[in-house]
Amino acid sequence: MAAYRYGTGLPQVAYFCMEYGLTAALPVYSGGLGILAGDYIKAAEDLGRPLVAIGILWRQGYTEQLIDPTGYPHDTFVNYDCSGLKDTGVTVPVRVRGEDVTCKVWLCDRYGNAPLFLLDAGYPGSPHAWMTGRLYGGSRQDRVAAEMILGIGGVRALRALGIDADVYHFNEGHSAFAGLELIREKMNGGLVFEQAWQETRREIVFTTHTPVAAGNEVHDHASLQEMGANNGLTYDQMRLLGGDPFSMTVAALRLAYMANGVSKLHGRTVHRMWGQLDGVPLIFSITNGVHPGTWQDARIKQAFETKGDLWAIHMDNKRRLLRYIKDRKLGNLSPDSLLIGFARRAADYKRGDLIFRSPDVIEPYLATGKIQIVFSSKAHPQDELGKQIIANLVKYGRRYPHSVVFIENYNMDIARLMVQGCDLWLNNPRRPQEASGTSGMKAAMNGVLNLSVEDGWVGEGVQHGINGWLLNFHPGEALSPGKQDEKDLQSLYKVLLQEVVPIYYNNRKHWVEMMTLSIDMSRWQFSAHRMCREYYDLMYTPVANNNKNLSLQTV
Ligand SMILES: *Cc1c(COP(=O)(O)O)cnc(C)c1O
Repeated sequence: MAAYRYGTGLPQVAYFCMEYGLTAALPVYSGGLGILAGDYIKAAEDLGRPLVAIGILWRQGYTEQLIDPTGYPHDTFVNYDCSGLKDTGVTVPVRVRGEDVTCKVWLCDRYGNAPLFLLDAGYPGSPHAWMTGRLYGGSRQDRVAAEMILGIGGVRALRALGIDADVYHFNEGHSAFAGLELIREKMNGGLVFEQAWQETRREIVFTTHTPVAAGNEVHDHASLQEMGANNGLTYDQMRLLGGDPFSMTVAALRLAYMANGVSKLHGRTVHRMWGQLDGVPLIFSITNGVHPGTWQDARIKQAFETKGDLWAIHMDNKRRLLRYIKDRKLGNLSPDSLLIGFARRAADYKRGDLIFRSPDVIEPYLATGKIQIVFSSKAHPQDELGKQIIANLVKYGRRYPHSVVFIENYNMDIARLMVQGCDLWLNNPRRPQEASGTSGMKAAMNGVLNLSVEDGWVGEGVQHGINGWLLNFHPGEALSPGKQDEKDLQSLYKVLLQEVVPIYYNNRKHWVEMMTLSIDMSRWQFSAHRMCREYYDLMYTPVANNNKNLSLQTV
């Protein structure tokens, strides 16, 4: 066992994820999952933790989504510049649908002890470029091909690079096929399937992010066999792992020694969804966090620590965001009026346009500019409903250019500007659908106050009227979506108009106190450093120690 790298006394971890959001210039991410994985790498670097990350070099990223002249989002796909990556010279074969696919392995070595290796079937001359072309693009078979490259190819890349891992961390079910490769290796070494599975389970931990059962990816066994994703396992063996149809989440759970959800609330939801299934391991929760060095303005941090002038620095960040908006001719907002930020995936349940639904109530505030809102978002290229939400936001921006703005092509740079430059961060999804959510943590660390539903991480940190505001939304079970929206809208207006707006305009001192408490609440509890320590302490170390003890016993 090749444990305990770099003299740290800590297990070497191989971290698998479909996407990584490290910088806007390397757009191999679509949203929250990728940003989380990117922040995790950075936290592991800061803390000197031995981590190797495995992902895919999406040659065309996710989508560059621009608003066309009619106000509708339009996807473009460009081959971006990936010349900053290093060619390891290593290639690995993965057999996909009867063809041998040769993947190159690239290295992003900016993060010291936490290097990121990216597998690529899209280099010039490759006949299989489609497999790693667009993140979450294409057909179901494209998705399976990419997951095979990530999982099966990822394990092979580690072997080819000579990297031994004590623990394999699957961040979301996309990497479940890595478990099949770990099983196959052991079967090639002479173990029967059951033994190989049990041994493999002692090496894997799994983080699930999906809060609704229907959101979990399933595949039919025939198509997995056709693609070769079963990796030599029989139908019966595959069914034991993932059920029928084959669920990536269930398979990852049954391949893991421990599993977790990404907030306390979500941990309980995961337990409810999967806890009763056979062969599912211990499930608990490790709440997500964000990388302070990436998201928190250094001057805000300093002002907090030295009791400096938070408001002055906040206003500076706000003006920077407003200048960005003005320079791009997206609108002309005032630094002296309340600025609400809303930047999220354009999914129906997130209800980006909820705030507009009672025009009689909200439009007078927009007309006078007393409430300003800046939005940014992308919809999945195949999600027409999401695109209609964006088109609706754009429409409001055109109607109220002095109080509503939509920034196209949401990415990490825009996110940073917004979570530092808004006054208030709005989050109003239908409940319970948010596993964690992280943009509100970024906002909180910058003294941007959360106005949020108590879903995901929020209930662990936000206290109403103290360091932000909670929306007393009614859980969906008993109410139809339409009824729920109606009730939620009333409670949104009530808190916004009767609590937030008066404090903002009439009691600046109180507002700044709340900013201070927001930073204090978030800076450690919702940092990726706290999260990274918890993964090492609560998951990786127990797994590695367990294996060490067992192998000592069997010597
Ligand atoms: C932080 C971030 C997200 C995730 O935010 P949520 O609150 O989970 O929606 C998505 N995209 C970008 C670019 C981000 O920076």
